[in-house]
Parts: sequence; C-alpha cells; structure tokens
Amino acid sequence: MATADVAKPDYAAQRKHFIFTDEHEQLRESIRRFVIKELQPHADEWEETTFPDWVFERMGELGFLGLDKPEQYGGQGGDYYTSLVLAEEIAHAHCGGLAMGLAVQTDMAMPPILKFGTEEQKQEWAAPAIAGTKILCIGITEPDAGSDVAGIKTRAVRDEATGDYVINGSKTYITNGHRAHAIVLVTKTDPATTTHDGFTLFLVPMDSPGVIREKRLKKLGMHASDTALLAFQDVRVPKSAVLGTVGKGFYHIMWELQGERLIGAAGCVAGAQQVFDRTLQYAKERHAFGRAIGHFQVIRHKFADMATKIETARQLVYTTAWRFQNGEYPVREITMAKLYAARISVEVADECIQIHGGAGYMQEYGIERSWRDLRLNRIGAGTDEIMLDVIGRSYGL
Ligand SMILES: Cc1cc2nc3c(=O)[nH]c(=O)nc-3n(C[C@H](O)[C@H](O)[C@H](O)COP(=O)(O)OP(=O)(O)OC[C@H]3O[C@@H](n4cnc5c(N)ncnc54)[C@H](O)[C@@H]3O)c2cc1C
Repeated sequence: MATADVAKPDYAAQRKHFIFTDEHEQLRESIRRFVIKELQPHADEWEETTFPDWVFERMGELGFLGLDKPEQYGGQGGDYYTSLVLAEEIAHAHCGGLAMGLAVQTDMAMPPILKFGTEEQKQEWAAPAIAGTKILCIGITEPDAGSDVAGIKTRAVRDEATGDYVINGSKTYITNGHRAHAIVLVTKTDPATTTHDGFTLFLVPMDSPGVIREKRLKKLGMHASDTALLAFQDVRVPKSAVLGTVGKGFYHIMWELQGERLIGAAGCVAGAQQVFDRTLQYAKERHAFGRAIGHFQVIRHKFADMATKIETARQLVYTTAWRFQNGEYPVREITMAKLYAARISVEVADECIQIHGGAGYMQEYGIERSWRDLRLNRIGAGTDEIMLDVIGRSYGL
C-alpha cells in the first residue's frame, strides 16, 4: 500500500456542521468576541448581584436579541440556526443565570407575542424587547401547579360591563420577574373546564396596579438570574391584553414550550462543552504520581465517555433544529433532545468536579457553579419525568 493511501485521523479538523453557513460562523465569531470581552469578566460579580439590565440594552444594540426575529420589528430576519449560535456562544460567559435570563427574553416570552400577538402588541412589546429597552418574563408555574399546567388556578374574569379582564392568582419561580416590564401570563378563563380549552394568555404590564413582586427567591444555582414569586390581586387589563385566542392559551403555551426546550437543549450541550474544555485543560496540567492526571487510563476514559455523550446530544439538537427550520413540528425529537442534553450536561459537570478533585468543589474554579447551573435543566421547561412521559405517549402508550 502506498503511503498516500494511508488515511490519518484528522482529530484537529474544525469542519463546521452542515446546518451552518459561513455567515453563521461569522456571527459566531462576533458573538464570542463580545461575550468574552464584555460579559465573561463580570461572571463572578453577577453571581453575587445578578446581571444588570444594561446587558439587554447592549445586546439589543448589537442586534443579538433579534437574530431570528422579523426585520419589521427590528430583528435580523435570520434563520433558527442563528438563535442556536447565540445559545452556544453565550456559554462562554460562564454564567448560566445570564444565559437563562436572555433566553427567557428571546426564546420564551418573545415567540408567542410574535406568533399570536396583534400588530399593536408586537409594536408595543416585541420591538422594544428586540431592541433591549424592555424586558419580558413568562408566567406559567404556580405554587400549586408546575408540571401539571392545566392545574393552574390564576383566574382571569371578564367584566361584562367594560369588557376588561380582572386577574387574580400567583406565579412562582419566574425568571426576570423582578426586572421585567411585561409578563406573558397563563390564566384560566373557564373555571369549569375539564379539557385543555378554557385557558387564555395575557400580556400584562408589570407596573399594572395589583401586580406584586413578592419575593426574590434564593436558589441552588443560576445565581446571576433573578427569580420571583409574583402575586396578581384584582389586576385589571383591557381586552386588548389578551394574547392569541381566548380559550386557547394552553395550546399556545405548549407551542411555546417546544422552542424553549430546543434552545434549552442547545444551551446544555454548550454548557457541557465548556466545562469539558476547562477540565481537559486542567487534566493536562495537574500532576499526580509523576504524570498529568489525564494520562491515567481511568481519567482518559472519563473524557472519552463525556465527549461521546456531548457529541451525541449535539447531533440530536442539530438534526432536530434542521427539521424545525424546515417546517416540521418535531415534538418527540425536541423532547428527546431536551431530556438527553439536560441529563448528560449534569453527568458531565459532575464528572468534571470529580476530575478536578478538591478544586472541583471550590468556588474559585467555577466547575461547581457549572454543575449547580446545569442541574436546573432536568427540572425547568419540563422535568425529565414529564419529558419521558411525552416521548412515551408519542408512541400511543
Ligand atoms: C430556577 C428556575 C427558573 C424557572 N423559571 C420559570 C419561569 O420563568 N417561568 C415559569 O413559568 N416557570 C419557571 N420555572 C418553573 C419550572 O418550569 C417548574 O419548576 C417545572 O416545570 C416543574 O414544576 P414544579 O416545580 O411545580 O414540580 P412538580 O410539578 O411539583 O413536580 C415534582 C416532581 O413530581 C414529578 N411529576 C409531576 N408530574 C408527574 C407525572 N405526571 N409523572 C411523573 N412524575 C411527575 C416531577 O417530574 C418532579 O420530579 C423555573 C424553575 C426554576 C427552578
């Protein structure tokens, strides 16, 4: 066999995935430069203080909050992959709470406004949210109902005399809840409903009389984000605050959750890759028993396992995103991607703590923070158990 016929593995090849074009890669570069220069240096400080609102304004100014949003509202009009690029690159900030607060704005609260909203609602809320001058949050979860969305109790009652709605209830664990200018609120408008009809979305300004930002909730991770307990006491909103169709809010929010889960899965892969890369570096530098710890077979195999899981999750996210971009509504695969990416991200972060030894347990190295931040993903946007149920039911079980 001639030497030229011997194929050498090209481990260092940096070939981009086929869903991405050169334009996506340029966008990736510019987001990464911004994140490393302007956000990452503040990561430790924001763990203590939560990230400041200027981040929204700055990112709006750079066009990063509307990458895949329509140009008529100030967006860049890009495809879904541009949103994936943002989710991947924001991980370089090493600040899960920041990534989550931004994703609530771009991929959770904004999409239902753009899909179901009136022209006035899009101009009033989506356009400034894209510009970063207004901040949004989304309220589904309540103290007595999380996974069981249909079990929510927040009521919106129509005042027949004026046509207004009067809202009473509470929402909890609401990301951006303390800083938001408006909330996409899930309510029940038909108390007697026994089906998924009878729920309605509202776009409620957070300075409306009767909206009370009760408590800033303390949590295991995602410290850079604010998480609120909110109360709604006789909050009166006009009919024009209804988002979408009266009675169809449950279906609207289930649609929203698909985008939230897919972007969450992309964030998990990116978070896992970050913590892997930092740990790989550590394993090459840290010595024990006369050699770099990465050269012990048991540690090498941990990296092999982690890399295989990350790559598997990434391919699942990319293939699902490709189907989504091409007009399909692949709920089963989105659910699989969310479940798998969340699980492996926590496994990877946990293994990275182990490889760091005592350093992994120390705040200074930031590895324990990654574990705490990533742990949320097995709960938020639908728990592992709910994801398994959605997948199982999709087979007619
Ligand atoms: C940091 C953070 C930020 C969040 N941000 C937001 C936000 O911005 N907006 C928002 O609306 N919500 C938000 N959430 C809420 C989040 O989506 C919910 O916590 C999640 O959906 C789970 O609901 P729950 O906490 O009520 O748990 P529960 O529904 O009470 O579940 C408890 C346990 O029971 C299991 N379980 C429940 N039902 C079933 C079933 N049918 N089969 C098997 N097991 C089941 C669950 O999997 C879980 O293990 C946030 C949560 C956190 C922690």
